[in-house]
Amino acid sequence: MTAARTVRFPSGVEVPPLGQGTWHVGDDPARRAGEIAALRRGLDLGLRVIDTAEMYGSGAAEELVGEAIRGRRDDAFLVGKVLPYNADRRGTAEACHASLRRLGTDRIDLYLLHWRGSVPLDETAEAMEALVAEGSIGAWGVSNLDVADLADLPAGARWETDQVLYNLTRRGPEFDLFPHCRERAVPIMAYSPVEQGRLLGHKALKAVADALGRTPAQVALAWVLRRDDVIAIPKASSVAHVEENHAALDIRLSADELRTLDRAFPAPVRKRSLDVL
Ligand code: NDP
Repeated sequence: MTAARTVRFPSGVEVPPLGQGTWHVGDDPARRAGEIAALRRGLDLGLRVIDTAEMYGSGAAEELVGEAIRGRRDDAFLVGKVLPYNADRRGTAEACHASLRRLGTDRIDLYLLHWRGSVPLDETAEAMEALVAEGSIGAWGVSNLDVADLADLPAGARWETDQVLYNLTRRGPEFDLFPHCRERAVPIMAYSPVEQGRLLGHKALKAVADALGRTPAQVALAWVLRRDDVIAIPKASSVAHVEENHAALDIRLSADELRTLDRAFPAPVRKRSLDVL
């Protein structure tokens, strides 16, 4: 049996390439039990990376994640995010401590600046380093930062990822952001990897999936996961979707299948500014 594939952060920490998102999880009390069951099933299957944020449901998603990981904290690799208008020296610490309380834990493994706001990046970086020093976070990174923004991070800053919108219909980062991060051995976290479901009815994707006897979601995820420097974090609120997504880890798309997808979803040939959702 071959060892399960992992993606390595600059710190040396390794995680599985498929994780779980939580935007809109916890919004509807009627779906709560199912969403918790889905996250737990994901953990059972080794989908350790759980991505959340103080923004999601104004803390409701973090509370739900807290419930899902209760009694099994070490099964999860928690990714959290601070809102840009909280990201000054004091606000970052306060936001992190509030998130820790909602999550019911004393450590967020990877804490990201959600997007760039008006707080200088060096102040946020300093606040993040202070949280690492006190043990509240394992490491830090950024989200929705394009190459020019990354260049504004202080020299020597220990950012561990850039979490960006990346899927078959959002290939812009391949042009310059991926090479920039790869040079620094920094993996990308791909958010909305199935374009929030909008991608799944696409004819070309469906044709490849049908030929493989797989679902469009699985092929869309396998396509994102074809790269060894990407962690995909689809959000799934049912056990069935989690299991389906997990099975995408077994798919290796052939050169022919990749060419078919390239024709339908062309790679970028020039710089495009980073899309955000
Ligand atoms: P996704 O691309 O993950 O799509 C989620 C949607 O796809 C849900 O409606 C889900 O349905 C559906 N879905 C999931 N699996 C399947 C499947 N196997 N078959 C059919 N439908 C499926 O979009 P998100 O925007 O949620 O992105 C993922 C995560 O990335 C977020 O939840 C969040 O954690 C993070 N994110 C980060 C951002 C940032 O700015 N840093 C911005 C946006 C997202 P169902 O729920 O019914 O299972």
